Amino acid sequence: AVLAVATLAACGGGSRSETTATTDSGFAADATIGVSLPWLGTQNWKEAETMFADQLTAAGFKPLIQAADQKVPQQQQQIEAMIEQGAKVLIVAPIDGTQLGSVLTKAKEAGVAVIGYDRLIENTDAIDAIVQFGSIRIGELQGQALLDGLSEKKGDGPYNIELFGGGPADPNAPNFFKGAMTVLQPKIDDGTLTVVSGQTDFTQAATADWDNSKAQQRMDSLLSGNYSDKKIDGVLSPNDGIARAIITACEQAGQDIPVVSGLDAENESITWIWEGKQWSTIAKPTDALVAKSVELIQTLQQGNDLPAADDTADNGSIDVPLYELDPVVVTKENAKEVFADDADRMALLK
Ligand code: BGC
Repeated sequence: AVLAVATLAACGGGSRSETTATTDSGFAADATIGVSLPWLGTQNWKEAETMFADQLTAAGFKPLIQAADQKVPQQQQQIEAMIEQGAKVLIVAPIDGTQLGSVLTKAKEAGVAVIGYDRLIENTDAIDAIVQFGSIRIGELQGQALLDGLSEKKGDGPYNIELFGGGPADPNAPNFFKGAMTVLQPKIDDGTLTVVSGQTDFTQAATADWDNSKAQQRMDSLLSGNYSDKKIDGVLSPNDGIARAIITACEQAGQDIPVVSGLDAENESITWIWEGKQWSTIAKPTDALVAKSVELIQTLQQGNDLPAADDTADNGSIDVPLYELDPVVVTKENAKEVFADDADRMALLK
């Protein structure tokens, strides 16, 4: 049935037609919703798995949630199966931002809406929206937290630092690094910071698959190759798992613990921050991002257009409507404030 209602509105000298009410494009209130996660290797994805199950069920939908263990073909197959099982919306956090184009085109052809979750999906027009915490902003906060920690913990500069990035296939990772470098590069240029290894490109700093043990190995060799007669003062880390790997490598090499940034507010890192072992993390609360996603799904279920987006993200093919939440830096100083409403994390702060 065509339910679109056209109205004519006078507009200056001319007139234009406007579609005011819709369509038969909604779907059943108990529809299946697919959620495709890249892996469960960091706390945020495990939280996403549980919270999507809870929040989608509470909203009346049937959740179909899978994680793909960092294997692209597995993720492609899981998404295909979700389409075959009649999912009306797909929530997708890609392992590799560029490898889902053809399977998502199938989704689009089947009339399935696609929402990128936490990570952008690149080089495809088969994406309707993305919900995430600003990825460049996260990087800026990480770079600034590192600088602040250095002046607070390591006296006057210059400081010896090293740089780590996340998994290069994840579109967030280069953005986190880029954001951090907007803050750190001027301080490298003016001599406040010295990257002793000279490894300042993202490709050198990246950690394949976000694998903590690979980061620990790289930190081991950076220390043995460059720091036998030097102290390391700080390390840029893209997330909490890699931060703990870096700190462990420094402890094992007999170094004083450097100032290390992080991301995700993982329980173990909150404990380390509280004990003074890790300097900072960034809270990007999974429950809020899941709630935002479910809100968009409900809008689509009712057959309405998505609300005005906060911004757009160029994914190499189209400008994707971007719904953006604000990340928050956490150090020992503000942890109790930031987690005031998060009983599980508050319990770690004693
Ligand atoms: C997420 C981080 C996470 C990382 C590794 C990124 O895309 O934004 O929260 O730590 O992936 O899983």
